[in-house]
Amino acid sequence: MNEFPAEQQHVILACADLVGRAGGRSFQIGYLHDDVPVDQAGWYAHAQYRGARIQVEDQRGPAEAADALARRILTGARCRCGRLVSLSPDGAVAYEDTPMADGSRWTVAQAREAGQCLWRRLGARWEPSCPEPPGRSRPTRRERRRR
Ligand SMILES: [Zn+2]
Repeated sequence: MNEFPAEQQHVILACADLVGRAGGRSFQIGYLHDDVPVDQAGWYAHAQYRGARIQVEDQRGPAEAADALARRILTGARCRCGRLVSLSPDGAVAYEDTPMADGSRWTVAQAREAGQCLWRRLGARWEPSCPEPPGRSRPTRRERRRR
């Protein structure tokens, strides 16, 4: 992948990392058309999971394809903190019927109930905004209102 600028490589690596962390079995980026300008080559990306295949098509380049695929994977996904993954700080979330990595689905009602966790790409990795879970079976603390 050395022909791509560093920023593009980060986007692609972040997507590959995300696919792997979500239990994906394969990740592929490619294009359909030779002998055309790069942005018209019909770039696509797809990730294969046990129960689902997630893909994007008609992207302008490999980084665009990787970014679109990462956002497709994250959209409607459930974070480790139990909340819905959000990709924009303003909290706008597209509630789509998205297959989970394990093939199950999460209903819109369940997603709204859970709340949101903002995810963003930091270099070559997508990161949630919630803290790393400290232990495996730590009891969850009830939220208290202080006003
Ligand atoms: Zn989270």
